[in-house]
Amino acid sequence: MSRSNVLFSIVLIMAAPLVPGCKKSEPGPAAAAPEFRWQVDQFADLRILRYQVPGVEALTPSQKELVYYLSEAALCGRDIVFDQNYRHNLTIRKTLDAIVEGYKGDRTDPRWDKFMAYVKRVWFSNGIHHHYATDKFLPEIEPDYFAGLVKGSEGAAFPAAAGQSLDEFIAFLQPILFDPAVDAKKVSQDSSRDLVVQSAVNFYEGVTQAEVERYYEKVIDPKDETPVSYGLNTKVVKKDGRVAEIAASIDGMYGPAIKEIVFWLEKAAGVAENDRQKQVIEALIKYYRTGDLNDFDEYNILWVGDLDSRIDFVNGFIEVYNDPLGRKATWESLVNFKDLEATKRADLISANAQWFEDNSPVDPKFKKKEVKGVAAKVITAAMLGGDCYPSTPIGINLPNANWIRVNHGSKSVTLENITYAYNQSSLASGFGPEFTASPEELDRSRTYGGQAGNLHTDFHEVLGHGSGQLLPGVSSEALKNYHSPVEEARADLFALYYIMDPKILELGLLPNEDAAKAEYDANIRNGLLTQMTRIQPGQTIEQAHMRSRALVSQWVYEKGMPENVISRIEKDGKTYFVINDYRKLRTLYGRLLAEIQRITSEGDYEAAKNLVEAYGVKIDPELHAEVLARYAKLNLAPYAGFINPVYTPVTDGSGKIVDVKISLPEDYVAQMLEYGKKYGFL
Ligand code: ZN
Repeated sequence: MSRSNVLFSIVLIMAAPLVPGCKKSEPGPAAAAPEFRWQVDQFADLRILRYQVPGVEALTPSQKELVYYLSEAALCGRDIVFDQNYRHNLTIRKTLDAIVEGYKGDRTDPRWDKFMAYVKRVWFSNGIHHHYATDKFLPEIEPDYFAGLVKGSEGAAFPAAAGQSLDEFIAFLQPILFDPAVDAKKVSQDSSRDLVVQSAVNFYEGVTQAEVERYYEKVIDPKDETPVSYGLNTKVVKKDGRVAEIAASIDGMYGPAIKEIVFWLEKAAGVAENDRQKQVIEALIKYYRTGDLNDFDEYNILWVGDLDSRIDFVNGFIEVYNDPLGRKATWESLVNFKDLEATKRADLISANAQWFEDNSPVDPKFKKKEVKGVAAKVITAAMLGGDCYPSTPIGINLPNANWIRVNHGSKSVTLENITYAYNQSSLASGFGPEFTASPEELDRSRTYGGQAGNLHTDFHEVLGHGSGQLLPGVSSEALKNYHSPVEEARADLFALYYIMDPKILELGLLPNEDAAKAEYDANIRNGLLTQMTRIQPGQTIEQAHMRSRALVSQWVYEKGMPENVISRIEKDGKTYFVINDYRKLRTLYGRLLAEIQRITSEGDYEAAKNLVEAYGVKIDPELHAEVLARYAKLNLAPYAGFINPVYTPVTDGSGKIVDVKISLPEDYVAQMLEYGKKYGFL
């Protein structure tokens, strides 16, 4: 429920130069030499970019030391996410790494390039299923060629099981890699079948959906007003015929990796900026030691109250998107520090939180009487780990536990150096001219797209997710598999409704109404047209954020038809969508926001299902084919991820760290191989 990924609108914004008046002084053009190489690789549907870390040099030596320790802790969990995504992922990755390092045969063979493209995809997705679509992707080589690669890598250590010959090992891997029917989907959304059994994700073993649901019904006390996040850090298995949970902890599941994480967190606690931050880190260490979710809640309450530290981090089992039942979290980490200038913008939104809550078109009984603890900041990412690497969110809002958010508040961040990197890398892309309907629309996007997109992200994270309230007795899991798209739509609609409000101009958050129009253009274009570029022919929309955007755009398009609010036009055989009446479109966004808030507040599963299935899943196959053909001509990759910087400590004669140097490597393959060796603990 709480992170925003890069939208296609942002890819278009990328064609925009920086907007005058937009507070981007830190990651601005001065920090970026024009010859800086943003994109370092492209393969399949993926691009690899670099991000800069402006301002890191200006941190104090002990702040830099803290960033270094937290960064090491961020990288130590890499194996966890591979294993969570699929039970054979670690075996596969170790095998692929060993071939890349050890293959003695012909590396100029065109098949070797295809093999490498596959390896790069596995690294990118932290496994063999697409990081976004969750479908298994296949190597574009023959199984025999693969067998030859394994046998041609003399001296390489393959992770074969005890007593398994190399031939047996190859025979074991081949169906996993090459048979499209074996574990085809990481996260199944097909609610007509068993979601647990149909999903390859490694949160469940030998149990059915019904067994898991019965298990949690027994464990959970529905009257508990401050429940732990049941099952968040566990795996559900069958033990002696009974359903049981195994928790992650220093002595439990993923122990060897967690031990390393704790090692670095302990060092971090020793150089914390203040007592509060030290307590936060120590509380996290305690939770990793016990695996007890009560300790996780305690950590979250402390973390949400740590507002004064410059440096901050996320490290743990956080987001539940990868669990078809929305309960189990994937491990992730992000180390960051506050961008002081840009945070002033988020502060302004935060300071007016109550006004926005009170004036929304939502039924008063679903509104928060008192909006509490909305803390927002713009941050500079310093290290990405686990599920945040290489593909990373651009906004995060945590914690996820509803009662902690209500009673203690939440923290919202936008990762501005990441959006800046996207922006810069796409300056030369032909995406904008291809999909905008007119020179005016393109111009609006170039002039205001970046600024309006950042404001949308702020609203989505700072106010959107935090707005509204559930009626008493309604559980935040009531919408089950429709929870995520509905929740994302709710946050987006809050942003869309307000971005066209006169209050935005009054507060100076946007320079004029054209900037708001640019955001509406981008959302309609993305929801009805361009996000289809991410979907294979014949497939439906699966991912929560994409379902949310389709749902919102399709709904307003349909409801606006009688008054021609949005028209679909064709020029030279190309389809475009044009907004004719921005005011009426805003009213439609408001209507849908009110309905979606009602659905959320009442836990109306049937209505959520109907809305998502009717507007958020299906794609018109003809339009889809047209968009894919137009997109293919541009030779762009729709998804991007990042290489991390490298921090190297500088010590004095006694071994004490006196400074930390940053470098920005360019070699994706080298970084992945190094991570495999240095952080391979499982
Ligand atoms: Zn969100």
